[in-house]
Amino acid sequence: MADDAERRSGAGSGAKSGHDRDRDTTILTRLKDGSLKLYELEKELSPIDAIRVRREFMEQETGTPLENIGIFSIDVDRVVKRNCENMIGTVQVPVGVAGPVIVNGGYASGRFYLPLATTEGALVASVNRGCSAISKAGGAEVRILHDGMTRAPVFAADSVGHAAQVCDWVTVHRDELRVAAESTTSHGKMTGIVTFVAGTSVFVRLEFDTKDAMGMNMVTIASAKVADLIAQGTGVRLIALSGNMCTDKKPAAINGILGRGRSVVAGVSLTHELISQVFKTDARTLFEVNYRKNFVGSARAGSMGFNAHAVNVVAAMFIACGQDAAHAIDGSTCITTVDLTDTGVYVAVTLPSLPVGTVGGGTGVETQAECLKLLGVAGSGTPPGTNAKKLAEIIGAAVLAGELSLLGALAAQHLARAHQQLGRG
Ligand code: NAP
Repeated sequence: MADDAERRSGAGSGAKSGHDRDRDTTILTRLKDGSLKLYELEKELSPIDAIRVRREFMEQETGTPLENIGIFSIDVDRVVKRNCENMIGTVQVPVGVAGPVIVNGGYASGRFYLPLATTEGALVASVNRGCSAISKAGGAEVRILHDGMTRAPVFAADSVGHAAQVCDWVTVHRDELRVAAESTTSHGKMTGIVTFVAGTSVFVRLEFDTKDAMGMNMVTIASAKVADLIAQGTGVRLIALSGNMCTDKKPAAINGILGRGRSVVAGVSLTHELISQVFKTDARTLFEVNYRKNFVGSARAGSMGFNAHAVNVVAAMFIACGQDAAHAIDGSTCITTVDLTDTGVYVAVTLPSLPVGTVGGGTGVETQAECLKLLGVAGSGTPPGTNAKKLAEIIGAAVLAGELSLLGALAAQHLARAHQQLGRG
């Protein structure tokens, strides 16, 4: 393993001996003539040296100096095995903190500073203002409504009658399928199995409690076992382990309706005085901005997102906390509601699909793990599952802060001014 200084510089084996230089030159020549592939470098070199030589090759091939990509501190031995193939270095995304925000959740309780990885000027400041409003109001009330990661293999039946038989077989053999699925994992529990048919295509949507893991690898492995049993038991042909009714990494109504990952709601009651003090606007204007923008505007545009910019906060927290960044798309389906009350407004966000984990995936990369530690959610919870749910609740509160702040800025006609001051060079 590379020592700390080497990792920090991404320099590989420090001062190179003549032997090392000759070895690197030979390897670069083999890469150029195609007798060695870029992905084979780790077979001949330590991970840190493989990364450096691959980067040097890219510099020579493209004439592009990559000295900044080559500076990093993370443990690449682990990353090249688990997280990234053909690695040449890292990109650095600035991380800011917003908060503290008070969260009164089922799992998250207390004051939290939110790490946000972003290059969008004004985002952290905006979330910070929302956090301030929430905390002054006594905190965000947050709950997990549903928890289940899904995978939906697609099968080809011979006829629609056969397709219907497959669905019946799955219902009858549900317990057997659950036992088979759970034999592949010591943490995952199968919590649901639903079938859908379109002509001769049969989709079996499997749902799992994945505890502290986001769970996509876990449920994919378990689903393979289930899919084999269904094929053996019914004669149906397995076409693809993922049949898109899961639905992974695409905006989909099914995730909004049935939920996928953690389904989170967060709300806060703001008084007339607080709205005026923090947002320089009033309850009715906030309500009308939300109604005409988030509901009428989104409906008119055919948008699947009825929110102001929820995905901004989801993406920034996902990147900071080692989540699968592609799942930020699920954050975009958030629904933001503003209810007029006798004392002011009750603002809430509903995130039906938030795939998050505190073990596995990118959560172990040192910089990302530090962000999880900042929130008190790194690794397994006690009992398992509580850390991931706590993270989901904190992100729910963060989204609420972002929504409040942007709605407030729009209501007070401050949006362009804030971006002029904070987001422009
Ligand atoms: P993972 O890194 O593959 O595995 C996590 C494993 O950690 C679990 O399977 C579990 O092992 C173990 N574990 C230890 N403590 C745990 C705890 N407290 N709670 C739950 N599990 C615990 O992570 P993953 O969450 O399953 O998958 C995430 C990765 O999948 C990400 O890298 C993501 O990018 C990728 N991904 C994969 C697909 C796909 O189709 N395969 C699709 C999208 C994304 P046991 O199961 O043995 O208990």
